[in-house]
Amino acid sequence: MSALILDGKALAKSREEQLHSSVEKLIADGGRKPTLATILVGDDPASATYVQMKINACKRVGMGSLSIEMPASTTTEQLLAEINRLNNDASVNGILLQHPVPDQIDERACFDSIAIEKDVDGVTTQGFGRMAMGEPAFGSATPAGIMTLLRHYDIPMEGKHAVVVGRSPILGKPMAAMLLNANATVTICHSRTEDLAEQVGRADIVVGAVGRPELIKAEWIKDGAVVVDAGYHPGAIGDIEKTGLENRAAAITPVPGGVGPMTINALISQTLDSALKGRERS
Ligand code: NAP
Repeated sequence: MSALILDGKALAKSREEQLHSSVEKLIADGGRKPTLATILVGDDPASATYVQMKINACKRVGMGSLSIEMPASTTTEQLLAEINRLNNDASVNGILLQHPVPDQIDERACFDSIAIEKDVDGVTTQGFGRMAMGEPAFGSATPAGIMTLLRHYDIPMEGKHAVVVGRSPILGKPMAAMLLNANATVTICHSRTEDLAEQVGRADIVVGAVGRPELIKAEWIKDGAVVVDAGYHPGAIGDIEKTGLENRAAAITPVPGGVGPMTINALISQTLDSALKGRERS
């Protein structure tokens, strides 16, 4: 058996073409250019690269971006004030606060200060609650992108056993809630989980969202499982061991080119949705 490749890069590209047409139509209809504000705090080079990739994606689909860079010494109060300013800026449809922020900042307080209608990265507690309840809300971008990818490839989820390894607020927890909303039977594993190999071995769908290079071993994966790897580490290594996976899994997300492009796509797609909803309201 050779695994089906869940090609996030190709899907994101084709969805960008649709987004580009929708943005053009919105502007032709007299709407304002949808705009994403990005906030980068500090000088972590990986974070700077991620933010730049998001800005580039905005450009590709004809959307605007507003890039805010703040020094590593920024306080919670200063960041809250900046977010508040963007909340009140009618030309901004979405706000992305790049994670992680420096240690002295209360990241949760800052995420939660983003206005719900501009929370296009799906990071607020309120947005998470609404999504978990099945109410309309912007989903956390990475799990939202993963769900779009799984649906695109008609991966069955209903009644399937999904095992999510990781329980972070922006990835593991919302991923589990989205799979539950899709009627999967969901197990969440974390650093205190006993017998991780056994838990993973029972999964029809495995999501690696753990942030440890190849922590999840290929030999743990059940034959025919669908394997989603959200991890990305230097050397194009994911959270799931690559060697040996091809012959066990029914489908896998490549690293890179799987989850990453779909995360950015979810973000810009939700920014357009925010702009369209803002127009309906005005
Ligand atoms: P995180 O906040 O560090 O969370 C990691 C989770 O993994 C935690 O819940 C932790 O458990 C769990 N964990 C750690 N060691 C474990 C172990 N030995 N066994 C089982 N579980 C363990 O990370 P994150 O932000 O969710 O990111 C996870 C991965 O996804 C990273 O590789 C990151 O780079 C990647 N990511 C990719 C994208 C993308 O766009 N492609 C976006 C976001 C993140 P505890 O809760 O018990 O500590």
